[in-house]
Amino acid sequence: MNLETKYPYYLANKPEQPNADLEVIDKFTGQVATRVAQADAKAIDRGIAAAVAAAEPMARLAPYERRAVLQHCVERFRELQDELAYSLCVEAGKPIRDSRGEVARLIDTFDYAAAEALRIGGEVLNLEISARARGYAGMTKRVPIGACSFISPFNFPLNLAAHKIAPAIAAGCPFVLKPASRTPIGALLIGEILAETDLPPGAFSILPCHRDGADLFTIDERLKLLSFTGSPSVGWDLKARAGKKKVILELGGNAACIVDADADVADAVSRLVTGAFYQSGQSCISVQRILVHDSIYDELRERLVAATKSLKMGDPKLEETFIGPMIAESEAKRLDEWIQASVKAGAKLLCGGKREGAMLQATLLENVPRDQPLCAKEAFGPVAILDRFSDFDAALDEVNDSVFGLQAGLFTRDIYKIQRAWDRLEVGGVVIGDVPSWRVDNMPYGGVKDSGLGREGVRYAMEDMTEPRLLVIRTP
Ligand code: NAD
Repeated sequence: MNLETKYPYYLANKPEQPNADLEVIDKFTGQVATRVAQADAKAIDRGIAAAVAAAEPMARLAPYERRAVLQHCVERFRELQDELAYSLCVEAGKPIRDSRGEVARLIDTFDYAAAEALRIGGEVLNLEISARARGYAGMTKRVPIGACSFISPFNFPLNLAAHKIAPAIAAGCPFVLKPASRTPIGALLIGEILAETDLPPGAFSILPCHRDGADLFTIDERLKLLSFTGSPSVGWDLKARAGKKKVILELGGNAACIVDADADVADAVSRLVTGAFYQSGQSCISVQRILVHDSIYDELRERLVAATKSLKMGDPKLEETFIGPMIAESEAKRLDEWIQASVKAGAKLLCGGKREGAMLQATLLENVPRDQPLCAKEAFGPVAILDRFSDFDAALDEVNDSVFGLQAGLFTRDIYKIQRAWDRLEVGGVVIGDVPSWRVDNMPYGGVKDSGLGREGVRYAMEDMTEPRLLVIRTP
């Protein structure tokens, strides 16, 4: 299978091929795989103006019409599964099996949004809370917020763009989207399919661009909401410059997983190895810190090291590959340096640690000092660190000893500990019996602390993209 020689961008629902383009590198071969049209500030401005003009016609689309658009996408994604998966494999270096998994999730996200499009409703309010309000009743309906600005990251080029696009259509909001410059194809393929639908003119623009033009996605006052998924440093900076618009931030983390004394060690190991090394650890909820009860620490370490060593690293296009390249050699080099620094500071390398270009082996360490970047910062690569605990509450404290708080995992069967973890962990979600990396596309998903603001997960994103409008009725 080949990629097109050059992909157009989508401006006000239509493909355009300006002269300027961006190279898309095959992350395994390092060669230019294809090119995509590159938007300049003028094109972005036109996309925003078109989205603003489309706000009213989008709001007028009936729920069944919004659902029809989303259902069309689901059908087309099913037909194009192989092409979509292949594009991920090339542009993100994502192993082909994981790429197919992301396409399945893309379909889930749109399918679920199609159902949610019909459920937007409101509330009937009894306002008679005191004598002053006698005879008054109220109702709310949800009204689309208007033109939205979306910025998506490189690691899930299809599904994280989908987590903004599908709720926007279901909620009746037009949008402009800037995909990651390193992986723009996924969003453009979604654009190709949206262009086949009856969305009102101007309802969507998908515009890869360099950073200079990108500022408009943040600062333009005509846009009512900015939904950003990406790194914490960029996200918080954009929020500071976003003006009056509502801002949703889905940022990074250094997720922790606790394995308590009563856990089934074999089961925990099989999940940990996937949670830590799936798509080379380049997931915001990748398992980075593993806290294991003293009584099972040695057994778990031995099994985890063996399972990690068995992971096949290589060409992401091959079925057997589990670990592909990181997104760029510079990222692999950065992480390699963090590993060396930890070892220098007294950590023990348990396995992995070798790098060739952008390929970094799945790596485990123990005794990493807490102030080392491998523990304190987001690794965002195929590295996890082990630590032991004897006191459960101290383990909870250790999970919370982070500037981040996206999700945490806990293997235990003790209902009281589950309750305690749910109460005390400073995260957006606690996953019991599995790793923090577990996610399906209808659950509320997002973080606290430096990990972000707000939640995605279709219905939750739709709440942000709409506002309640109240009607008060007095019966004399
Ligand atoms: P990044 O912050 O480098 O880029 C994210 C997006 O922002 C890209 O489209 C990029 O081109 C754009 N961008 C960068 N600077 C910009 C600017 N000044 N103005 C406008 N746009 C700008 O992140 P990345 O490397 O693509 O993704 C990895 C990061 O994303 C990690 O930190 C990861 O944890 C996080 N992430 C979070 C979630 C989540 O749901 N919480 C999901 C996936 C990834």
